[in-house]
Amino acid sequence: MNVESRTAAGAEGLAMIKAQPGRALVAFDFDGTLAPIVDDPDDARAQDGAAVALAELARHIGKVAIITGRPAAVAVEYGDLSGIEGLVVLGQYGRERWENDTLETPDPPPGVAEARVKLPKILQTAPEGVVIEDKGHALAVHTRRAAEPEVALERLRGLVAALAERSGLVVEPGRFVLELRPPGMDKGAALRSLAAECGSAAVLYAGDDLGDLAAYDAIEELRAEGVAGVKVCSSSDEVTVLAERADLVVDGPPGVVRLVESLTSDLF
Ligand SMILES: [Mg+2]
Repeated sequence: MNVESRTAAGAEGLAMIKAQPGRALVAFDFDGTLAPIVDDPDDARAQDGAAVALAELARHIGKVAIITGRPAAVAVEYGDLSGIEGLVVLGQYGRERWENDTLETPDPPPGVAEARVKLPKILQTAPEGVVIEDKGHALAVHTRRAAEPEVALERLRGLVAALAERSGLVVEPGRFVLELRPPGMDKGAALRSLAAECGSAAVLYAGDDLGDLAAYDAIEELRAEGVAGVKVCSSSDEVTVLAERADLVVDGPPGVVRLVESLTSDLF
């Protein structure tokens, strides 16, 4: 499979990755991009072949990164990523950094502790199947396992937003999930900061959900500053807005793994 972009800007990005692999940054979201979406977030695991493909790509390229809302250590465990040289995992939207089997993590912001106490009370009347995922620096309310996930999400949206405001947090919506987290943490800021640190000449980012749009924005800002960029969408039936903005659309996590393999084999 040759990697082909459907936009000229994306094709330029791919060409720059090939021309200057040592100055390329290739970054991925985790859930829905490297790992199939599952009913229970604790059951998520990387797509077969993902870790091997990422390790191979990391041998050839300036920096390979995973940028996720999950704690970095969880993504490393669920992705079977331990020991991969040249890979950085930015967890909690960039608050945490895992690299060379070492984790750097700051103290969680105070508003999260407050929300952790209050959230279960607010959800007492929520439909059955609604669960809280404690991410340490953020709290996620999942409705995927409710009988009517969309209805449950809409019912809870206002309550969760009110709690976020009282706790000095913001709400990040996603695929049947409302996430409470500190303001100023997003994948775009994390991606830009890593690209600046690496002095990247080209940046590719692959994601599947609304939280990844900030990283798409970052790619577009970088392009305006002369850094080549590629926006990849791991497609799903649940979220279609990314596909509309992407340079390249692949078929879910299996497609992402094939893309990683193709980047390695086609470009090097
Ligand atoms: Mg995702």
